[in-house]
Amino acid sequence: MKKGTYSSWGMYPYYPQIAHDCMWRDELTTKLKGMVEIHGSTLAYGNGRSYGDSCFAHSDNVLSTRCLNKIILADWETGKIICESGITFEEIIDIALPKGWFLPVTPGTKFVTLGGAIANDIHGKNHHHKGTFGCHIKQFCLIRADQKELICSNQKNTSLFQATIGGLGLTGIIKWAEIQLIPVNSSEIESTAIRFDSLEEFFTISKELDTQYEYSATWIDCLAKNNSIGKGIYFAGNHTKKNTLEIKTKKNKTLPFTLPISAVNSLTLRAFNYLYFRKHKTGRKNILMPYDKFFYPLDGVLHWNRIYGKKGFQQYQCIIPEKNAYNGIKTILKLISDHKCGSFLAVLKRCGDIPSPGLLSFPMPGISLALDFPQNNKLVALFSKLDEIVRETQGRLYPAKDAHMTGSDFRLSYPSWEKVEALRDPALNSRFWKRVTD
Ligand SMILES: Cc1cc2nc3c(=O)[nH]c(=O)nc-3n(C[C@H](O)[C@H](O)[C@H](O)COP(=O)(O)OP(=O)(O)OC[C@H]3O[C@@H](n4cnc5c(N)ncnc54)[C@H](O)[C@@H]3O)c2cc1C
Repeated sequence: MKKGTYSSWGMYPYYPQIAHDCMWRDELTTKLKGMVEIHGSTLAYGNGRSYGDSCFAHSDNVLSTRCLNKIILADWETGKIICESGITFEEIIDIALPKGWFLPVTPGTKFVTLGGAIANDIHGKNHHHKGTFGCHIKQFCLIRADQKELICSNQKNTSLFQATIGGLGLTGIIKWAEIQLIPVNSSEIESTAIRFDSLEEFFTISKELDTQYEYSATWIDCLAKNNSIGKGIYFAGNHTKKNTLEIKTKKNKTLPFTLPISAVNSLTLRAFNYLYFRKHKTGRKNILMPYDKFFYPLDGVLHWNRIYGKKGFQQYQCIIPEKNAYNGIKTILKLISDHKCGSFLAVLKRCGDIPSPGLLSFPMPGISLALDFPQNNKLVALFSKLDEIVRETQGRLYPAKDAHMTGSDFRLSYPSWEKVEALRDPALNSRFWKRVTD
């Protein structure tokens, strides 16, 4: 494979990764050992949907698992499936949904692999009801360079189980995993959209309606000022009870090349936010929509990350604990609005209190904010101010989206990092881990 073909979703920082494909799951052990002999260390690479440098090997030689995409065993009576770790959520849904099963937790893209979802302990629109993806993992098989295969679960090799969920790929290569799917009657979602005018209203609406809806997430206008800070549209939904398990396949559009410069700037952003907010009328709007439009609106345009131009972009995702959430998020949004740039998509999400088995899991009970910024030098000053607020409010940043967090902030907000370091396979290391632990 050619050097430079693998990057991360944000295309920043730029460390071209040489990918070494593993074609068969029984080859993983020898492949891993071989790579370590030649390159010193490596890291599993799923589908590169992490934004920053957490999916980059410190040696810049990654072991790609994408070809390991088979369902090994499925019990369609109970919804338990065992899959190879390189299978994507899209591939699982295509097979499971027509049989009446869906993923228990899914992120905002279906192009992540099972291994990547475990390693970042991903969360979705239903975190307040179902916790993280790691809560639904029954067991997995872990391969370490120095040992044979280990089966890890809540009962067996428990420490490694907990360190691997959200463990950023550092404790071993996941060969396969068993997950519990959830039963659904339909491939459609009964969704509701509510337009609101301020951050106060967001807090009231989400507190009240999150109990009634399994899924929720909120778009906000990141440029809004003064009393309008935090204005946006609250989206929520439930799987409908109607019996339509059909998957309608639609051809995705593709952005064929990376734009020379970012198409996201204060002018385009202001225009988009104005039109998008007004497109949604005041009051409440209920509609039935296909699951992929509800969960994965961004997947409709492949390679949409190219609109940010050759320099790429960074996502800033933080979570602020409930007791400090209102003031913390308001201050952060004010700084962003003064900065006059952000992204078309800026998302607030209330996370719940279901604990994850993972040691380095990102969510906590509170409010998460995520938005993208075109890469430029001004971000250093902005992010350092935002980090200060996150620190003061006892929040934290999401490693899966990060390209800038300081080592001291990481170690402060993820105190279990030393337990993961103690269980790290010395043959595995990432650019992110080196950056925040050295
Ligand atoms: C549009 C978009 C929306 C998103 N929305 C959300 C969201 O709502 N919630 C959320 O939590 N995240 C979200 N993400 C982030 C994404 O879910 C995570 O970064 C996910 O981990 C990416 O999976 P991947 O398969 O691409 O893994 P990669 O990015 O390739 O790798 C991620 C990590 O997994 C490790 N890994 C991969 N395979 C294995 C394996 N077999 N064994 C051990 N370790 C492995 C890697 O070493 C690395 O540390 C979003 C990303 C995008 C692009």
